[in-house]
Amino acid sequence: MSHSDEFDQPSLPLGETYPEIRESVRALCADFPGEYWRALDRERAYPADFVKALTEAGFLSALIPEDYGGSGLPIGAAAAILEEIHRSGGNGAACHAQMYTMGTLLRHGSPEQKKAYLPGIASGELRMQAFGVTEPTTGSDTTQLRTTATRDGDHYVVNGQKVWISRAEHSDLLLLLARTTPKDQVRSRREGLSTFLVDMREAVGNGLTIRPIRTMLNHATTELFFDGLKVPAENLIGAEGQGFSYILDGMNAERILIAAESIGDARFFVDRASAYAKERVVFGRPIGQNQGIQFPIARAYAASEAADLMTRKAIALFEAGKPCGPEANMAKLLASEASWSAADTCIQTHGGFGFAEEYDIERKFREARLYQVAPISTNMILAYIGQHVLGMPRSY
Ligand SMILES: Cc1cc2nc3c(=O)[nH]c(=O)nc-3n(C[C@H](O)[C@H](O)[C@H](O)COP(=O)(O)OP(=O)(O)OC[C@H]3O[C@@H](n4cnc5c(N)ncnc54)[C@H](O)[C@@H]3O)c2cc1C
Repeated sequence: MSHSDEFDQPSLPLGETYPEIRESVRALCADFPGEYWRALDRERAYPADFVKALTEAGFLSALIPEDYGGSGLPIGAAAAILEEIHRSGGNGAACHAQMYTMGTLLRHGSPEQKKAYLPGIASGELRMQAFGVTEPTTGSDTTQLRTTATRDGDHYVVNGQKVWISRAEHSDLLLLLARTTPKDQVRSRREGLSTFLVDMREAVGNGLTIRPIRTMLNHATTELFFDGLKVPAENLIGAEGQGFSYILDGMNAERILIAAESIGDARFFVDRASAYAKERVVFGRPIGQNQGIQFPIARAYAASEAADLMTRKAIALFEAGKPCGPEANMAKLLASEASWSAADTCIQTHGGFGFAEEYDIERKFREARLYQVAPISTNMILAYIGQHVLGMPRSY
């Protein structure tokens, strides 16, 4: 690489990014303290007031271009917003998809579709935060999915089943990935799937049934059953058969934003653990004076800083319009592992109190665990790195 190539590389901000945005998010989150999240967690209830406040403050439309009523900010700003929500003890998963699911529409939708939906999504009047990809029988093997959308005149008829579709009950629009060409008729396994905008307000009760799934965390996730649901042909996004590549196009953004949430979680745990280790006195000394307590917290801090650096690199490449698949995937991998090990350390530091609901640590512990499974599991990221970055044979 020549010197001039080196200088063409995007630069990495090393200080706090978007300090004003972070400050406003912190101020907003201060109105939604641990008691708020705890009460919802007990009932597995949706944080409607928190989502309303974020929407009204304009944070959820950060990535929508100004022409459509959003703030047109770069992905680094969205990452800062989500990181701060998580660092405060909250959970952005209730609405993070409102930020990025619209990316498929923005990149591949027709001018009419964008005009019809994006301004409503930007104002929050339209919720587009449900994303229907995963199926019970095919799981991580997305290209093999079985839900079909069959063209019939001016509409498609959808039949099949999805699982783990989060926020479906709190979304007006669902971005659906369904098969439009049978598997044995496609040239490559990336073809034959299409993306649709499903209007949930019309669909539920008319071919779509939603069944909530109670999980170890408050995530409003559901199963969807499609039985002859009619979707107008004009709701197809982009070209028929190209839906899988449209979904892939949005994945780097999703990986980066999830990494930011995990970094926020890791910092929440490190903040809480180090504070407690300084004040809790046992055997006549603060527990943080013992290296058995101090070192794991220091290690968790180092891991979260390293994950943050990789996330900054992914963001810088993404914002410069350069390929960032490896960095976005590594950011998500490292951040989700850093948050999980910080969560474990935080529980250990708190002893019995780590298990008490009122400390919020056990709740955050449950929430942080998700990100090694969803939206993509750790093994799939390792397989991507092994195959696409290191050139080893495909393992599946
Ligand atoms: C709370 C929650 C919310 C979710 N929200 C959404 C959503 O809104 N929309 C949506 O579409 N999906 C959603 N998901 C689904 C999520 O993306 C999947 O759970 C995830 O991609 C893994 O798929 P799976 O559960 O079918 O696991 P499987 O594919 O069955 O895999 C099980 C395990 O085996 C491993 N494995 C499988 N194959 C291989 C292989 N070849 N090599 C090595 N390891 C392998 C996996 O890594 C995983 O650890 C959500 C999941 C959860 C739990």
